[in-house]
Parts: sequence; C-alpha cells; structure tokens
Amino acid sequence: MRYLVLTDIHANLPALEAVLEVASAEGYDRVLVLGDLVGYGADPNAVIDRVKALAPAAIIRGNHDKASSGLYSTDDFNAVARTAAMWTFNALSPENREFLTTLPAGPLQVTPRLEICHGTPFDEDAYVFDAADAIDALDAARGALCLFGHTHLPVVFSRSPTGFNVALPTGAISRITLEDGTRYLVNPGSVGQPRDGDARAAFAVCDEDASQVTFWRVPYRIDLAQEAILAAGLPAPLAARLAIGR
Ligand code: ZN
Repeated sequence: MRYLVLTDIHANLPALEAVLEVASAEGYDRVLVLGDLVGYGADPNAVIDRVKALAPAAIIRGNHDKASSGLYSTDDFNAVARTAAMWTFNALSPENREFLTTLPAGPLQVTPRLEICHGTPFDEDAYVFDAADAIDALDAARGALCLFGHTHLPVVFSRSPTGFNVALPTGAISRITLEDGTRYLVNPGSVGQPRDGDARAAFAVCDEDASQVTFWRVPYRIDLAQEAILAAGLPAPLAARLAIGR
C-alpha cells in the first residue's frame, strides 16, 4: 500500500495542484491528510473540494481548520493568522465550514504500524521542534511510524535500540528506509506554506510494504498563490513568505 501524505495545505490551490500532478504520475493507492487544509491561503473552498474528491483513507483536523470553522478561538494566534482565520471563516461555503467541523482530532491509527497526527500523538496542537519534543511524541506513538505536520518542517526523528537520530530530507527527492526495531516520527513538510527555506511544495509517499518513505519537493506557481492572497485582501506578508519558504 502506497500512501500519499499531504499536510498543511493552507488553502494554497496552485501548490496542491502541482503536488497532485506529480503524485499521480508517480502513483499511489490511498491518501492521508494530516490537517490544516485552510488558513493563510486564498482558496479554501477549492482546496477542500479537491481534498474531498481525493476521498482520503484518513483525514484529521489541524488548528487552522478548527479556528477557521469557528470551533476554536484564535486567542493564541498571531495577528496575521487571526486575520486569515476570520477571512477564511467568512469565505467558506456553509458546506465546507461544516465539513471542517466534522474532521476528527488526531491521532488516528491507519494500520497497526502507521499512525497520523497533526501536532503530536498526545496533543493535536502541540509542536515537535526539538529532540525533547520528538522523544515525548515517540513515547506516545502507538505504531512504529507516526506521521505528523503542524511545524511545516520536513524531518525524520528516529529511535532505535542504539540511539536517537534526526535527519532532514533535502533536494527534490529523498528517501528513507524504515528499519525493523526502530520507531519513526516523520513530517513530510507543508504543501502550501513551506518554512524550511525551500519554497517548493512538500509532500511524501509512504510505501508500507517496501518500508520506505519518499520525500518530494515540487515547484509550483507561487506567483498565482501570491496574487490570489493579495486580491483577497489577506495580509501581504502571507504572500511574501511563500517566495522564501519561511
Ligand atoms: Zn499548518
């Protein structure tokens, strides 16, 4: 089974379309969506419609999905994120707002070996930035492989009987092989708002049978996403940051 793993799309339709084009050409069986379909970007309805059409095998909510559908206060959002959440709430069709409110909270077990969450397996809104965070998350994970999002940073944390390791996927394509007896906490990176300094859209394909995760970076029409953000009246920094991947 090959899972296409999408997270943090953030209403960026040009990025999602570019990712799906490459992913379709490469081939996959099922789709996993790790939350934050909306927020920041200018195409929340089109992105939700596109995700619905993929009929994901598993999908969970992110903090922006909660905030943008009115499920969650934006008190801990910065001013730009709060403005975007309010804009998104008003832009969403009633059906799509309802869709976001029905998304389950992570973590969600996909197979005995594979689990997905937005932030961490113990708190859907917590961030995994450093080794201490990762060890807490690995302790809480139920399977050997836990996929997460939320930080928008592609990374592989792993813990084997011999130690703890951190690896950063780089380049257009990179691949890891999952070793028996090692537990993995993997972030594919963000489709719609990368923050690792690489502006290309990020996604991953997890091949459970081959025990491999392949990380992809895909160029997309950043200019179109930026134009849409500015035309929508969303804060200009949300357009500017796409070009630098921060
Ligand atoms: Zn996000």
